[in-house]
Amino acid sequence: MRKSTMISGKNTPISAIYGIGEKRAALFEKLGVKNAGDLVYYFPRGYENRGFIKTVSQVEDGEVCSLMLTVSNRPRSVMIKRGMTLTKLQCFDDTGKCSITYFNQPYMDRALIQGQTYRFYGKIEKKNSAVFLSNPIAEKGEIEELKSLYAIYRLTTGLSQKIVHNAVESAFKYALDERADDCVKDVLPNDIKMKYGLCDLRFALENIHFPLDLNSVDAAKKRLAFEEMYMFALNLLSSNKNEKQAVMKAYSKPDFSMFESLFDFKFTNAQLRTMREIEEDMTSGKRMCRIVTGDVGSGKTACAEFAAFVALQNDKQVAIMAPTEILARQHYNDMKPLFEKMGYKTDILTGAMRVAEKRELLNNLNLGVTRVVIGTHALLEDNVLFSDLGLVITDEQHRFGANQRKKLADKNFDCHILTMSATPIPRTLALVLFGNLDISTIDEMPPGRKKVSTFALGEEYRDGLNGYIRKSVEEGGQVYIVCPSVEEEKLVGESGEELTDKDIIPLDVIREGGRSMKAAVNFAEELSEKVFPDLRVGFIHGKLKQKQKDEVMEQFVKGELDILVSTTVIEVGVNVPNASVMVVENAEFFGLAQLHQLRGRVGRGSRKSYCFLMSESKSERAKERLKTLCETNDGYKIAEKDLEMRGPGDFVSQADGTIRQSGESGLKLSASLGNSELLYHAFEEAKNTIVSDPLLNSERNVPARNKIFQIVND
Ligand code: ADP
Ligand code: MG
Repeated sequence: MRKSTMISGKNTPISAIYGIGEKRAALFEKLGVKNAGDLVYYFPRGYENRGFIKTVSQVEDGEVCSLMLTVSNRPRSVMIKRGMTLTKLQCFDDTGKCSITYFNQPYMDRALIQGQTYRFYGKIEKKNSAVFLSNPIAEKGEIEELKSLYAIYRLTTGLSQKIVHNAVESAFKYALDERADDCVKDVLPNDIKMKYGLCDLRFALENIHFPLDLNSVDAAKKRLAFEEMYMFALNLLSSNKNEKQAVMKAYSKPDFSMFESLFDFKFTNAQLRTMREIEEDMTSGKRMCRIVTGDVGSGKTACAEFAAFVALQNDKQVAIMAPTEILARQHYNDMKPLFEKMGYKTDILTGAMRVAEKRELLNNLNLGVTRVVIGTHALLEDNVLFSDLGLVITDEQHRFGANQRKKLADKNFDCHILTMSATPIPRTLALVLFGNLDISTIDEMPPGRKKVSTFALGEEYRDGLNGYIRKSVEEGGQVYIVCPSVEEEKLVGESGEELTDKDIIPLDVIREGGRSMKAAVNFAEELSEKVFPDLRVGFIHGKLKQKQKDEVMEQFVKGELDILVSTTVIEVGVNVPNASVMVVENAEFFGLAQLHQLRGRVGRGSRKSYCFLMSESKSERAKERLKTLCETNDGYKIAEKDLEMRGPGDFVSQADGTIRQSGESGLKLSASLGNSELLYHAFEEAKNTIVSDPLLNSERNVPARNKIFQIVND
């Protein structure tokens, strides 16, 4: 142990790993892999199933499988062009013959020996009845001895599966070297592993990368997902310390009937209950930390306005934060008349403001002339000073990143905090996710809401759909078309062949095999150039800057576009009452709650509204999920169903900006478990851990604490 500091563990830079020079290290960095520790946590996308062995007579053209073949001649390599070699051999099994060629692998003529039998794995080519394989992976050994699963990783140009495999294998030696102080430590306490029958970290990591069989992948996945969720929850719970206890001056009760009289509708019971809860918080003498969850259109805004009213009546200022400028402006337009009717000056702070304008606003805030300010996270900047801030309302808070949230917490040390969630979240889950907040649930819709008729359609309805879109636009309506945001990733097998989802066993079971995803960019072009050349089609995708997105969105809001094609989930909460058709492409790719949220973008005006869920998925699960959406408009029911079928992963990652920000290191495995009880247990255990050891100081919890610390410092 004396020399342990000399041995480098998980922080060993990958350039120090055998076979990886500066160049490759840079490529790995592109994948988010900087050191040995990252590598062992660089999980595969799925597995090639080389254990799927067919005979020559069974194979079909284009399929990827294994054949047990005996080499019938002596393989020979010939030079075909300068620097290009071709190695040819003939093989057979009991049912037929197969010709194999290798390009630029001249050593294969010595590696493969006449009369020997190998397992060849590759993509079959069949012409007439002749069977060919090019560049198959050849492995020698008895069927029973050969490992059947081979991990397939996300690559980047310049890296091959083999390079990644070898790198991962080497990384184990460093990252899990127990002599190193900074080796990867098991963050799960033994008692928890025992209780839930979770395997050891080493076994899990080894079997996610180099599995013995599918059962061990399963055990590995289960354990790593548990760890992921446990750490996620610990992180959440330890960073959001319970601040509810903070003492504040008790506000006096507001004049409710005055507030009520400013609205031309009657509040629903759920709204009234929520307002009462808010009032109790704010008059209690303790800090309010409350989240209001409710379905799209359930009327969360009025509750936020009520909270603002209470603060305003107590001579406090109110800040309202929205995740984007557009949403901020929309809130401003909606809320300003109300607050000014009450007699409170209301302003907006945007990035687009001129310097002089901004200076005046900042001055007004500082002097207390402005009583309500609405804006984006720009409100958190250091130069924004309030004279007497009493309440911060954040709308759709999960869209804010962790840093912003921390800033918020730091800045408004003694003010009330009200958060509005964007989606209905099942209560069981809300309790764990927002364990540090009080929760109000608006589970009732205002009367008279029109149902958005929803249909799940296949491609055979495409022409009809396009006709309907055209008709709607001609009648003055607007249309949203949403495509899933596709990560442009190519899957490449060990021998360099391109793979599709159906060629591998995906780690993430949610991905249903063999879909063709609408590549949104092409799709938008096709729509605007071929299908609707005469209509005004706008396009928002992930590569645009926020400002550009805002511009396109703004055009759509103003009615300057007929159709908005979007790859990303369109700005949650934006209100375009004139939009009456929502089309979702590859709908099976989305979570139900997300689809419901998208559907909530239409049906906001007087037009009869429709939602079309386009899907070619043959999977029964996918069909059942979409059917749920066609059958009910109740956001909570849908959320429950989603939770049941996809598990909490989606909700959790939606509910936390840090995950999406950190990309690769996010919740990679949890979603693949579906709605496993286990993930709740992970949450519960994290809670127990925090309760019994808030600073994670005990020996049991130090590895977890160190890991959290490392995440925060990254
Ligand atoms: P969300 O919960 O999605 O934020 P909003 O607060 O934007 O929903 O409310 C959606 C619409 O319903 C708004 O136009 C709002 O004026 C209206 N609304 C809210 N509460 C009621 C109510 N109790 N009765 C009738 N309409 C209401
Ligand atoms: Mg809203």
